[in-house]
Amino acid sequence: MDIFCKIINNEIPAYKLYEDDEILMFLDINPNSNGHTLIVPKKHYVDLEDIDPELFKKMIIKAKEVKKICEEVLHCDGITIVQNSGCVEEVKHFHIHVIPKYINKQELKDPKEIYEILKRA
Ligand code: AMP
Repeated sequence: MDIFCKIINNEIPAYKLYEDDEILMFLDINPNSNGHTLIVPKKHYVDLEDIDPELFKKMIIKAKEVKKICEEVLHCDGITIVQNSGCVEEVKHFHIHVIPKYINKQELKDPKEIYEILKRA
């Protein structure tokens, strides 16, 4: 079982920001920037080859919400959305990275600290 399935099954912890029947969102454990969030379908799809297009659409709508929250709470200036498929995908469970971007250099904080800030908002 891949690590994201284990997070979905509550077998290992994660800094979860949102959850419904189809989607889980949590902070990346090794973030590129403060607020780096992963959006993951609960059903196991490997990559872009087999993700359900309607679910992908729902995930993109969620990415827009992450952008808004990161702008409001973390004061990011933009975001980059990344989806790695095939040989560049480290965790073989479909996911989208939402990576906040900051004009001014930010000190990279521990995801736990970012989680506390986002949860308070
Ligand atoms: P990739 O498959 O290359 O698109 O990236 C997988 C991402 O998952 C990396 O950015 C990792 O830091 C992240 N990651 C791996 N394990 C965990 C975990 N237990 N909790 C949160 N993020 C994780």
